[in-house]
Amino acid sequence: MIITMSSSATKKEITRVKEKIKELGYEAKIFKGIKKTVIHVIGATDRERITQSIEQLPGVERLTPILSPFKMGSREFHPEDTIVEVNGKTIGGEEIVVMAGPCSVESEKIVLQVAKEVKKAGAKILRGGAFKPRSSPYSFQGLGEKGLKILSEAREETGLSIITEVVSEVDVPLVAKYADILQIGARNMQNYQLLKTVGRFNKPVLLKRGISATIEEWLMSAEYIQAEGNHDVILCERGIRTFETYTRYTLDISTVPVIKELSHLPIIVDPSHPAGNNKYVPSLARAAIAAGADGLLIEVHTQPSQALSDGKQSITPETFQNLMDDIKNIAKVVGRKI
Ligand code: PEP
Ligand code: MN
Repeated sequence: MIITMSSSATKKEITRVKEKIKELGYEAKIFKGIKKTVIHVIGATDRERITQSIEQLPGVERLTPILSPFKMGSREFHPEDTIVEVNGKTIGGEEIVVMAGPCSVESEKIVLQVAKEVKKAGAKILRGGAFKPRSSPYSFQGLGEKGLKILSEAREETGLSIITEVVSEVDVPLVAKYADILQIGARNMQNYQLLKTVGRFNKPVLLKRGISATIEEWLMSAEYIQAEGNHDVILCERGIRTFETYTRYTLDISTVPVIKELSHLPIIVDPSHPAGNNKYVPSLARAAIAAGADGLLIEVHTQPSQALSDGKQSITPETFQNLMDDIKNIAKVVGRKI
């Protein structure tokens, strides 16, 4: 059971509700949000008794019984779709949002070139990693703050918003200073301390699905962010590990309708990492939009063979332009626009 307090609820009113829950023999966990406070009643078995005792208390907006283990992310808690706003653009509404750019921020020249190309083709958000979670400690680890500055410059030049990954909780304040969206990568999906930290920032968070995570584990990770008060969470399916080796990962397209049923959070798809090869990326991207995804996160590079990371799966600006044309057509069929 979740109790949502009204935005004008006082400290005294919140304490009164908490004490009433204790009196009834349950535990109350308080989550102070950026706008509202919600109280989670743990182990609430006698829902009718709780409702009768709490519904009328001052400051209480509503009570929501929730059976799933993820509470704030569930459709029961929030039946309408969540629409995340980023510099006046919306993610999760009628419009499909495409985020594109190189895997890593390598140089000012490449980032600016790619940014201009993807903007021309209709992308709204520029991607690029300044802190890279690489499988090998000997591979390029990213430019750090210098990379964040390059992304900011590209934002100024093109007007595109920027999304970039944060890999460690100590870097969150620095990355949040530059980024419009904080990306949590697949390898950090269950880094609960990092999730809690981004949950305390007033910045949208894109949470990638872990390489071997179930949908429930993924939604529980999103819960960590929301429980800290940050409700602007965007989910991103990026493929999971299966027995198949012809692709880098297996894109689990079924997550799109499943997430749409279970949760109100927007879901986008990254077709680049599951494909592992740029020749498969357009098919996966088209399939994602046809399945109802709210957007895409795609790796684009002007010289894929020279890229410092994930060049093999990066598409050229020309392929990206053609793909955007296809997506515009598919969007119409599924009642969306771009
Ligand atoms: C990336 O987006 O470049 C990335 C590292 O993705 P993932 O966390 O999905 O592997
Ligand atoms: Mn990558």
